Amino acid sequence: MFGMKKILPGFAPPLKFSYDAVLIGGGLHNLATAWFLAREQNMNSVAIIEKNYIGYGGAGRNTAIVRANQRTRENIPLYKEALDLWPVMTRELDFNLMFYNCGNVNLLHSEAAVKAARVNVATARLMGVESHLLDAAETQKRVPALNLSHQITHPVHGAMYHPPGGIVRHDAVVWGLARGAAENGVHIHQQTEALGIETENGKVTGVRTSAGTIATPRVLVSAGGYSAGLIYHMLGIKLPISVLTIQAMVTQPLKPLLNHVVSSGAYHVYANQTLKGEIATGAHMDPWPNYTTQTTAGYIKHQAEALIELLPCLAGVKFMRSWAGLADMTPDMAPIMDGNDPVEGLFMNCGWGYFGFKSCTAAGRHMARFVATDQCPDRLKPFTLRRFENHRLMGETAALVNYTPDN
Ligand SMILES: Cc1cc2nc3c(=O)[nH]c(=O)nc-3n(C[C@H](O)[C@H](O)[C@H](O)COP(=O)(O)OP(=O)(O)OC[C@H]3O[C@@H](n4cnc5c(N)ncnc54)[C@H](O)[C@@H]3O)c2cc1C
Repeated sequence: MFGMKKILPGFAPPLKFSYDAVLIGGGLHNLATAWFLAREQNMNSVAIIEKNYIGYGGAGRNTAIVRANQRTRENIPLYKEALDLWPVMTRELDFNLMFYNCGNVNLLHSEAAVKAARVNVATARLMGVESHLLDAAETQKRVPALNLSHQITHPVHGAMYHPPGGIVRHDAVVWGLARGAAENGVHIHQQTEALGIETENGKVTGVRTSAGTIATPRVLVSAGGYSAGLIYHMLGIKLPISVLTIQAMVTQPLKPLLNHVVSSGAYHVYANQTLKGEIATGAHMDPWPNYTTQTTAGYIKHQAEALIELLPCLAGVKFMRSWAGLADMTPDMAPIMDGNDPVEGLFMNCGWGYFGFKSCTAAGRHMARFVATDQCPDRLKPFTLRRFENHRLMGETAALVNYTPDN
């Protein structure tokens, strides 16, 4: 990653024979966990093992949208905590994470959608998260470029408006957390693949890597789209996770025209204008499980058509780049954060789907507490793997009645 050697002191330290904890995957969640382990839990003998380079996974591919208006009482407090942490982390890491608090406008295209949104807005407010219902005229005021015609495929009836959300620069988060963790003694080993987790009598004893075996009593797997396959192949534990591709793209830079994150479930599209002026846009994930990070012409065409209907001023604007990444989806669209079950010393933090950027600060902080103390923090308890066998799934999928999935 560009300039990484400069900003990471002691970058690429030699692999030690043993660590107190080994974190598999150099993505958002492990970088945040490592930083909190070192900073708040005084655990410094920590290694991150990354098979490519930090930020290779969803960390460097997401569209950087943050918000806290999830749907359920288990999820909203976690996402609210994560959202509140961006300015705090910017200060504590002494690294500009570029939090742009522009607010999120989620378009509603039918009276049924407006009714459903009332529940979302009420739930968010009940949990202390600011959220408003706008009618069509108020929506137009917020997004003047929006097409309010009734002649389009899905006319706009109103919107949910969530002022505290916005965008954070995703690569700045990777760099800031990596630098902060390294400065606090964490070893980050790139180009090092975890090949196996060693156990004895039901307890973790080490990690086999492409650079040698490390002795450790604690392993945290947070490898994004690769987590489920990795845990199955290394330990034979099956996670209820499907892996799907999400595509995204940016246009050429434009004058300021969009001052909120705008999304539409009916059109399967969302868009925001980056600080550089590009319109970053994405939408639905591919409809079948796969591990590809390729983009497709059909998707780019869909995106162009949907955007132009909603924001006609974008007609003729060029897409400059497109890319794709993996989303690890659970059946209830909530993550799995668990530890010491069924293997002592094994922790997992995965299944984030398309919500893993906005959550990484709070999830990393709680996972650090869990790994350091072996006590599962209350906030993480609902996210246990056992919920799938105990029929205690969360209703977070309901959030998607109104939301474009990948934001
Ligand atoms: C196009 C797109 C748009 C998105 N938009 C948003 C958004 O706007 N907002 C939001 O909240 N979320 C968004 N997401 C989701 C978000 O990016 C992910 O949920 C998040 O990155 C997951 O973080 P992670 O730390 O779990 O994994 P990742 O960031 O994916 O990191 C996992 C790392 O593990 C490494 N790894 C894998 N196997 C091994 C191994 N055997 N040994 C060592 N290392 C290994 C990989 O190389 C990778 O670097 C989006 C995702 C995509 C693809």
